[in-house]
Amino acid sequence: MSLTYANMSLDRCSNQRKNKRWLMSEFNHHQTLFCVINDGMSLFPHENILTPVYLTKSQLDCLSINSCIYLGKGCIDERIEAVEPASTRSLFAVDFQKLRFSTQEQLLSFGQWQNLREVTPNLTGLDAAIQALAKALVYWHNTHQHCGKCGNVTTLVEAGHARRCTECRNMSFPRTDPAVIMLVEHMFPDGIARCLLGRQAKWRTGMYSTLAGFVDPGESLEEAVIREVLEETAVVVENPQYITSQPWPFPASVMLGFTAVATSTTIDISQDDLDDCQWFSRAQLAEFYSEENTSNTTKGAAETHNKAYQYRLSSTDSISSYLITAWKNKEIGQY
Ligand SMILES: [Zn+2]
Repeated sequence: MSLTYANMSLDRCSNQRKNKRWLMSEFNHHQTLFCVINDGMSLFPHENILTPVYLTKSQLDCLSINSCIYLGKGCIDERIEAVEPASTRSLFAVDFQKLRFSTQEQLLSFGQWQNLREVTPNLTGLDAAIQALAKALVYWHNTHQHCGKCGNVTTLVEAGHARRCTECRNMSFPRTDPAVIMLVEHMFPDGIARCLLGRQAKWRTGMYSTLAGFVDPGESLEEAVIREVLEETAVVVENPQYITSQPWPFPASVMLGFTAVATSTTIDISQDDLDDCQWFSRAQLAEFYSEENTSNTTKGAAETHNKAYQYRLSSTDSISSYLITAWKNKEIGQY
């Protein structure tokens, strides 16, 4: 299965995009589209948040290839391209902040800015993946304007997939920070398997998620799983098993999903920043508020009025939600 943001079916053209002539030809092609990102947000039509706005070059005055990031080539909108076949087209990302003021003003007539995670449930898998990729790359450029070696200014090169220092010529490349996220399980003496979920104080009331943390330098993914659970909860785990991964450009991670078996059950969150952490059985998880549980009711009403929903899962676009649901359905894990 593929998780949200992981449906990137466009060809990234990694070798071709280094060829300046090829790149310029794609940049100038009338079918090429541009995806604009503004402070991490995506552009959607005023009346429709199902499809992001993709613009043509003629809609972006004085656009320079030196500020565009090549995303890939393929059938971007299968709904249109089923009607008009043979249209594989290239797609670039553009930072709204790098556009001329007059162009910025024009763009506002095309739509409104939306946080990607707020609209993801409405998007096709490909649109979500394209927006996530564009957001990740625009963020990387914004945070790597200066050389990490000598501190001088860097410029965009290689179709936006590298930056080069104007002084020492040092090259830097887009980076992704690996983070492990783990469904920890244990078979209790009462014969009931439970999983370990925690919450942070800043999350909405009742929301619980699998534990997660960044991988340290010099550490394997399995070591990171064991260390993070111990640091956050004092629970000892063993046998981390890799399940799946998800790009998570909020702002620059890839989430690496694991299961692990706990060999101790006493929770102590005093040494870390969790607000709460508990063991939950499958029967308890079935009582969580989730899209699945409310699919046959009016969601808002169920959420507001049904006091049974004391707990809720993280949103359905996350690997956390996937891991918990898969464990609840006995698709992953030992117990
Ligand atoms: Zn430098």
